[in-house]
Amino acid sequence: MKPRLQRIMRVGVAAVLIAGVLAAAVVTSRQLIAYRQREQALMQFEHFSASIQLMGATSTERGLSVLSMSATADSADMRAQLESARAEVDRLLAGVLALTGDEGDHGDILRDDAASFRHILTEGRRHVDDQLRAGPGKRASRDIEDAVRTIYDAASQAQLLRDDLGEILIGLTPDLTPFMTAASAASDLREYAGRIRSLVVIRINAGERPSPEAAAEFSSMLALTDILQRQIEHYAAPFIDDPAIDRAVHAITFAYFADARAHAETVFANTGGGTSAGVEAFNERYTPAIRTTEALRERILDAGRARLEAARDQALRLAALCFIGAVVGSLVAIASLVLFDRGVFRPLVLARERMARILEGDLDAATAGTSASFLEMTELDRDIETLRRQQLDLRRLEREREVMSRELRRLATTDPLTGLMNRRAFEDRVAAIFEDPLALGAGLGIVMIDIDHFKSINDRFGHGIGDAVLRGFGRFLLGELPPGGHVARFGGEEFMMAVADIDRQTLRVRVEALRARLEAAAILPEPRLQITASFGIHWAPAGGRLDWDEFHRLADGSLYEAKRAGRNRVAASA
Ligand code: GH3
Ligand code: MG
Ligand code: MG
Repeated sequence: MKPRLQRIMRVGVAAVLIAGVLAAAVVTSRQLIAYRQREQALMQFEHFSASIQLMGATSTERGLSVLSMSATADSADMRAQLESARAEVDRLLAGVLALTGDEGDHGDILRDDAASFRHILTEGRRHVDDQLRAGPGKRASRDIEDAVRTIYDAASQAQLLRDDLGEILIGLTPDLTPFMTAASAASDLREYAGRIRSLVVIRINAGERPSPEAAAEFSSMLALTDILQRQIEHYAAPFIDDPAIDRAVHAITFAYFADARAHAETVFANTGGGTSAGVEAFNERYTPAIRTTEALRERILDAGRARLEAARDQALRLAALCFIGAVVGSLVAIASLVLFDRGVFRPLVLARERMARILEGDLDAATAGTSASFLEMTELDRDIETLRRQQLDLRRLEREREVMSRELRRLATTDPLTGLMNRRAFEDRVAAIFEDPLALGAGLGIVMIDIDHFKSINDRFGHGIGDAVLRGFGRFLLGELPPGGHVARFGGEEFMMAVADIDRQTLRVRVEALRARLEAAAILPEPRLQITASFGIHWAPAGGRLDWDEFHRLADGSLYEAKRAGRNRVAASA
């Protein structure tokens, strides 16, 4: 007997649970996939970043190569610096190659890029070493420029490697496009700012006016840096909402473009004019400005990395949150189901069972259960218990009423002194016999009985003994009652007998025998008393007119006859 509500609730909770768990599973797995993608993107980003570092290191090597080649005297310190710059490039190249491999088809392109880079770099270094071996003062500026150009080519190849990697990365994470573009532009700016420096340094050391060719190269570098500045401003500032990057962009504008580069232009234009400052003085002003381009490059890379990491962590957090949400939601759903089961439905079923038993009339076993979980259920229990007690009270009252009415009935139909029927009950009994032909049988006899000289018993022995005699006479009549007979006290010392299914003769004989036995009996043992009585009979055959008043009158008449004839005798109507 499960309540329908419980079934509905169970199905509902199960449906919500399944839907919730499915939704959570979908969201969680999507977020885990997103996490994995971000993780891969981060790896690619590190790869990209390594290629940019490689470019930067190549620029540095080139700068040191230029300084070494154009120095007026060989210095072990500078040589050591160049060697360590070369070692750094080699280290970074090995790092880029180690990261290459997960890109599938792209991996081959990257490996080709790296191989060409190494090849061109080796070539450039050979040129530089040739110049260095020639010794200071024995190098033509043209040869130095040629050697430097091979290193430019290596840097360009590193640029290509970076751009190929950037393309792969943008394919994986399109929202990083502004970062990649700005970082590429910043690293290009670093490269071209470096080349501008190399051109100026070569010019200063050569002490010649720039050739038209060198002048053209110089102005093309200037133009390139202008383009890069616009690119950086376009991508860095509006797309990357980062104050550190904003500051770095401003630093480039003021420290590099407005100051260092303008100075480089002046120095380049004036070389060979005798007014030019030395390499060291130039570098002192120019190099810190180059660092602003490196700083911007690093800021952009940091911001991109931070954004990727944030997105990756966000995906993981969402997955975890979703999972925890699903677990907590499921637990809450199950707990509420259990709570309702225990707190509402189970007590409800018990309450219904108790109600059913009470309605069936089983009031004993229906004691209240305890369901403390919900106030309403406890109240329901209490109400049922109240109802049960009310039913118990009603039942008790009903029993009392029955006993009382039985007693009333008994009192209304019984003579209190003798315990025999009273007159009214007797008349009802006779009326019932009238209505039952089977009981009436052969005929009906009515016998009026009156104790002889009863007054004298009262007078001689007192009223109490008189009562005892009346009780004794009642018992005697009851004992002598023939089959189908009824006896009643009519009042005073007068009694009445009705005998159904009897013929006139038998009746007469019976009553005569009764009279005789009374005469012989002791009606009271102590004091031993004997009484006689007079009997008036009326006999009515079956099928005749049945009229109680008539029968009574006729029997009474016979009794009067018996008294008149001398008492202690039987008289019958004709
Ligand atoms: P009779 O032979 O003519 O019938 O004479 P009797 O004395 O029996 O008749 P009577 O009618 O003169 O007297 C009846 C007496 O019965 C009168 C009354 O005091 C007495 N009696 C009536 N009812 C009771 C009763 O309940 N208890 C007692 N002790 N006496 C009663
Ligand atoms: Mg009398
Ligand atoms: Mg009498």
